[in-house]
Amino acid sequence: MSDQDVPKEEVEEQLAPYVIEGARSSRSKCKTCRKKIDMGALRIGILIEGPYGTGYMWHHLKCAARRQFDRVEEAYELEAWKEAKTAPDGVPAIEELRGLAEKADEQRKNKKELPHAEPAPSGRSKCKHCNELIAQDAMRVVLGRDVEFGRQVRTSPINVHPRCVAAELLTPDCGTESAGFAAALRANSSGVSPERIEEALTEIGTLPE
Ligand SMILES: [Zn+2]
Ligand SMILES: [Zn+2]
Repeated sequence: MSDQDVPKEEVEEQLAPYVIEGARSSRSKCKTCRKKIDMGALRIGILIEGPYGTGYMWHHLKCAARRQFDRVEEAYELEAWKEAKTAPDGVPAIEELRGLAEKADEQRKNKKELPHAEPAPSGRSKCKHCNELIAQDAMRVVLGRDVEFGRQVRTSPINVHPRCVAAELLTPDCGTESAGFAAALRANSSGVSPERIEEALTEIGTLPE
């Protein structure tokens, strides 16, 4: 290495925290979507100090905007395209990227993790355990059920009464674990008041070990 006489810290100081550029080859992979970044596609490098040294983690610019908009905004404030060896022809407006971030956030909220509890939005849903209707506005619990598709097993969401949770967790195709259940339910039921979550947990009662 030609820089062997330069103290390590000084070398690291030369790296900007972000770079926005057209990819200089097709060899980098997006750390967000894990797909290849095509040559010329806009990418953002986020400087990471890892155990094996300091370097850029690359992301498609739009992937990074969807997942970590704060970093992208910071990169824009620093005009990170000026750090590129060849300046990109243009970059999307920050407002366009903010729009992507907000949309992604919305989608994440709508796709809640399992298990979670929620008030039934109508009286039409049926408990997949006892097959009876769940009353409108009554708390229902969404668990995972393992369903085979060919050779793959996917976990599909199912609605159950709180009182049916304990029995459902004992079924062989249940895709939700009873270990840590209450903590998971509290963490995943965003947008539901803590009182209603506790109401569901009380009804759920003691779970099988
Ligand atoms: Zn990507
Ligand atoms: Zn039921």
